[in-house]
Amino acid sequence: MLTDLLKPTTSSPARRRVTVGEVVFGGPAVPVIAGPCAVEPGYVEHALAMRAAGASMLRGSVFKPRTRPDAFQGMGEEGLVLVEKARALTGRPVLVEPLSVEHVELLTGRVDAFMIGARSMQNTPLLRAAGRSGLPVVLKRGMAATYDEWLAAADYVLSEDNPNVILCERGIRTFETATRNTLDVSAVPVLRERTPLPVIVDPSHGTGIWSLVTPMALAAVAAGADGLLIEVHPSPEHALSDGPQQLRPATFADLMARLKPVAEAVGRAL
Ligand code: PEP
Ligand code: MN
Repeated sequence: MLTDLLKPTTSSPARRRVTVGEVVFGGPAVPVIAGPCAVEPGYVEHALAMRAAGASMLRGSVFKPRTRPDAFQGMGEEGLVLVEKARALTGRPVLVEPLSVEHVELLTGRVDAFMIGARSMQNTPLLRAAGRSGLPVVLKRGMAATYDEWLAAADYVLSEDNPNVILCERGIRTFETATRNTLDVSAVPVLRERTPLPVIVDPSHGTGIWSLVTPMALAAVAAGADGLLIEVHPSPEHALSDGPQQLRPATFADLMARLKPVAEAVGRAL
C-alpha cells in the first residue's frame, strides 16, 4: 500500500543473500552480469572477454522473446551448447531465460540461474516451475507492473519453497519516447524498504541506447543496487537483437573502471 510506503521507516528489512555459484547478491559486493542480448556464434570467445573485463556472471539467452515472430528467436539448443562451453571455460555462472515450463525442464542442471523476462513476469505456471527448480531466479519487472504486482510475482517463486529470488528493474513504459523505456532507479531504494530480496538493475533495456548505459549503471549502484545486468556484444552493429543498446567490450571495461569508485563511495565493492 502506498500509505505504508509513506510511513517513516525506522529500519529496512534485513538483506537476503542470494548465491549463484560463488557469486553473492545482496552482500557487500556488487556483481555484474554481462553478455550479449542473445547467444550468437562466437559466444565462447566473447565470454572470455567478458570475464577479462570483470564480469562476475554471464548472460546466455538462447530463447528470445521477440516482439515480431519474424525476428531472430535465439539459437535454442545449439546455443545452449555454447553456453555450457562458456560456463566450463570461464568458470562463471550463467543466467538463461526460459520462456516456458518445458524450457525450465530442459535447462535445469545445465544453467546456474533462471531469468524470468519482463514479458513473462505474470506467467504464473512459469514462475511456479522456476520456483520448483530450486535454482536462483532473476525476476524482471514487467514493463507496466507496479511494485506490488512485481512483488506478488516474486511470491509465486517464493511460495514453491525457493527463497532465492533477485529482483531486476529494467525500465517501464511511460509517455517518453526518447528512450526505449524509462529506467525507474527509485525502485532500488523503495524495494529495499519493502523487501529483503536483492535488487539489481538492467540499464541496457532500461534505456535502449548504449551511450546511456554507463551513466545509468553508475546511478543504479549509487542508489544501492545489488548488481547490474549489462548487454555487451563484440560488434553491436551486427547483433541479431538489441544492437543499439549493447556496449562494445572496451566500453564495458571502461564502465567497470568507472563503477569501482562509485561502489566504494556507497560502501560496496565490485
Ligand atoms: C533480456 O534481458 O534478454 C530481455 C529480454 O529483457 P526484458 O525481459 O527486460 O525485456
Ligand atoms: Mn536484449
